[in-house]
Amino acid sequence: MHTLQSNSLLGLTAQELTGLVMDSGQPAYRGQQLFDAVYRQRIETLEQISSLPREYRALLGEQGWRVGLPAIARKFVSGDGTVRYLMQLADAETVETVWMPEGDEGETGEGSEAGDEMEAPAAATFRRATVCVSSQMGCAVNCRFCFTALLGVKRNLSAGEIVGQIAAVLRDQGVQPPMQRVNIVFMGMGEPFLNYENFMKSVQLLVEGVGIPEARMTVSTAGIVPRIVDFGREAVRPKLAISLNASNDALRSEVMPLNRKWNLQELMAAARSFPLRARERLTFEYVLLEGVNDRPENARELAELVRGVRAKVNLIALNSGAELSYRTPTQERVGEFQRVLVAAGIPTFVRRPRGRDIFAACGQLKRTVQ
Ligand code: SAH
Repeated sequence: MHTLQSNSLLGLTAQELTGLVMDSGQPAYRGQQLFDAVYRQRIETLEQISSLPREYRALLGEQGWRVGLPAIARKFVSGDGTVRYLMQLADAETVETVWMPEGDEGETGEGSEAGDEMEAPAAATFRRATVCVSSQMGCAVNCRFCFTALLGVKRNLSAGEIVGQIAAVLRDQGVQPPMQRVNIVFMGMGEPFLNYENFMKSVQLLVEGVGIPEARMTVSTAGIVPRIVDFGREAVRPKLAISLNASNDALRSEVMPLNRKWNLQELMAAARSFPLRARERLTFEYVLLEGVNDRPENARELAELVRGVRAKVNLIALNSGAELSYRTPTQERVGEFQRVLVAAGIPTFVRRPRGRDIFAACGQLKRTVQ
């Protein structure tokens, strides 16, 4: 039956919850009531499930069930309104989740630095926001420019732990999808395509339970080619972003050793045959490393690589740190790289760094507490 890890209601589908209530002789409709309470109301405790009879709530508790919402262990607020959450899971380990008010999916913005300390915008001014969610504790993909890579991988997150991060943030921010517009990016700690089943189950729960349409979700992969193929066959799936980060194999193998397993030819073949929906575009991410992959020649090479794919390129100036040997290119250099791609007809955007001052920006998630 259920192990200790899975005695959390968060993570179970409506069908699984229906099976659970029926095991205790409850009517089947109580399964849907549980599903609504957990995902739509996002209750914290069993006692808060007011739609269920008191005795049955007590029985669930006796059977060892709990809601399974992660605890917010720490919260860091950036000058630009971004909030980095340190979420504590049932085994006391932590992962990070980032809330970005006014977050787009990273494709707009002028590349300016985070500002000074100020209040996060109040809920009353809410228009849209993006939650960046983690899929693994640490990461096994050894990208040379990423802080999360320094942690190694501890374990996969369950579907409940992935959805739980979002449920906890929505609770904390007092935000109610679908009335308020929330985007989800699977771009936090970890490689979602190395935790494929749990990631896809979390997508299903977010769509059916929390009420966030899959068109408002984007998953980013470092380039796990067989999973890109599987992902293209999913009936319900987020949009796809691929971390390219280099314009040729020699360079990519240097900055992303994973490229030795699936090289650019294999990766681009998967990208080219990826079944896009009407009006959908792929995203290619490209982290700019000063003097390494940021030359105009690299931009021209990149333009050739992605030519013919219905895609846009998101440039990310490196978020640097003492542990990394790479440096951040100047804004002029980033602009120059962008102009080469745009001139070649490739829609190219510079991702605005969010929450650099609190170590919440791309590649900076490594459970920094100071
Ligand atoms: N593992 C997935 C999901 C993480 S998404 C992936 O690799 O795509 C995080 C994005 O931030 C990736 O595009 C990654 O290349 C980029 N990134 C990693 N470290 C970074 C850093 N130090 N500065 C800027 N971007 C970084």
